[in-house]
Amino acid sequence: MKSTRYFFLFLSMSSTLFAQNKIDFEISFNEPQAHYVEVEMNISGIKSKYIDLKMPVWTPGSYLIREFSKNVEGFRVVNSKGQELQSEKISKNTWRLNTTNSDMVKVNYRVYSFEISVRTSFVDESHAFLSPTGVFMYPDGQLKLASEIVIKPYKNWSKISTGLEKIESKSNTYFAPDFDVLYDSPIEIGNQDIFEFIAEGVQHEVAMYGGGNYNKEVLKRDMTKIISEQTKTFGVNPNKRYVFIVHNFNSGGGGLEHYNSTVLGASRNSYNTEAGLLRFLALVSHEYYHLWNVKRLRPIALGPFNYEQENYTSNLWIAEGFTAYYQDIYTKRAGLQSPDRYLTNLASSISSVENQPGNRVDPVSEASFDAWIKLYRPNENSANSTISYYSKGALIALIMDLQIIQSTRAKAGLDEVMKAMYDEYFTKKSRGYTDAEFKAMLEKVSGNSFDDVYKDYINGIQTIDYNKYLGYAGFTLIDDAAKSKDAYLGAVTTLKDAKIMVTGVSRDSPAWIAGLNVNDEILSIDDHRINNVSDQRMTEVEKYISTKKPGDKINMTISRDGLIRQIELTLIKNPNHRFRITSLPNPSEEQIAVRKRWLRL
Ligand SMILES: [Zn+2]
Repeated sequence: MKSTRYFFLFLSMSSTLFAQNKIDFEISFNEPQAHYVEVEMNISGIKSKYIDLKMPVWTPGSYLIREFSKNVEGFRVVNSKGQELQSEKISKNTWRLNTTNSDMVKVNYRVYSFEISVRTSFVDESHAFLSPTGVFMYPDGQLKLASEIVIKPYKNWSKISTGLEKIESKSNTYFAPDFDVLYDSPIEIGNQDIFEFIAEGVQHEVAMYGGGNYNKEVLKRDMTKIISEQTKTFGVNPNKRYVFIVHNFNSGGGGLEHYNSTVLGASRNSYNTEAGLLRFLALVSHEYYHLWNVKRLRPIALGPFNYEQENYTSNLWIAEGFTAYYQDIYTKRAGLQSPDRYLTNLASSISSVENQPGNRVDPVSEASFDAWIKLYRPNENSANSTISYYSKGALIALIMDLQIIQSTRAKAGLDEVMKAMYDEYFTKKSRGYTDAEFKAMLEKVSGNSFDDVYKDYINGIQTIDYNKYLGYAGFTLIDDAAKSKDAYLGAVTTLKDAKIMVTGVSRDSPAWIAGLNVNDEILSIDDHRINNVSDQRMTEVEKYISTKKPGDKINMTISRDGLIRQIELTLIKNPNHRFRITSLPNPSEEQIAVRKRWLRL
């Protein structure tokens, strides 16, 4: 492993203009209790009059401009004699160093790190989690440069967990062949609980911070099953070593994929319930599947990255949606959830996509393109104006999988498309795929056209014909809410600061039509005072509406910005679906064959 990486280093260095540059980082902690990490950067072999140092503005996998340079303080540069050199800030994330008479410089700065998430850094007295895009600067135009990173842990910290290659001859020193690898290798430093296991010939390290009621043997066993199932699909596991950095919180979730590691958030005391364990394993399954889908097989816009601006792609429904589909498929294949449970969860995903008004407004390809301004920057109207490319993308994967299994008489499925794409674009061509190339592979493997699926469901907003696709496997969708006589207001109300406030208004609902607004305080309905209580499940508004019938008129008294208003509304029948998936009475042999292939029965 080491030798191939060093080979890569020479190869990339010889191709850069600044052939002599070498970068050494040193990371240390003077005031971890105040959430600072100290960064020292030594650049040698400088031949130019100036160098622009840049801090990325985003982190790959999380499509939001985060402006990491806002956390940088105390930027200072000296030459080899220790003399202070001139530097000038020329943009929000760029520092220009005057290197006219210096062939080496030492740069020091510190980074405030107090944002808990899988894609931001956090430091306190107990540990440091470094999300590298917000910690390490790169010389402009020199992302191919290799670097060495020396880590000096705080006084009683004893462990370092990272996917970076360790330089065995030096203490706490790591090697990054280029900045893409450095930026894709988060670092956990502290006294984390580490356990290891081998799966598919790959050494896996799990670094647990924050404690918890996890059972290491159970996790090793179940994680191994997921890793084996996923590796089987692609026929190759791309790493020799892989690291799971797990942050256990009172209540936590979410993960971020990386080149040969991942960062996961978890709830520390939920490992011992069936649902809690499955939630964690589904996250493991999701992030691990990204090793192939996104970290290697990727939309063409997602790498090489531009770290200074948005990187747009209309294919996040593949990158994230397919991964969301497969996270559950693989926990099912690994035997960690039953087929019934899988179908129950699938039906509830269909309900939640179909109940979201934004699904009838925003095509999933556009939702993907707009991730930077929509999914990652939601507002009170998001549910009306957009759809998640995770949940909708997973349903696109579902119908494609079923279509391919049906068309090939259960000889192939979406797995074969993903493997063929991986072989063709990652392994053979070493580049990302275009939208047209993905579609072409779907059509090649399945032998039929996907024009209508793209036109209607991906680039369009038609409602998916679920029964057509589920029917291939002898299943049908039943809406248990179809006969419901519940009255519907279409407003979400929440107890906030001892007031019952409107926090959401659903498109085309009675609340929408009558002009009830987010941030309205509801004082009374008809002659009934609305008390500022909530029994966790329902506010008094919801309770009152539940006593009414569709067609009933109600009169609300609200306070909006301190002025009292009356709003009259006519309730309607609750339009929301509550789907379940059930077997058709007498499935044919063909349907059973599709079902068996799909659910690996
Ligand atoms: Zn993901």
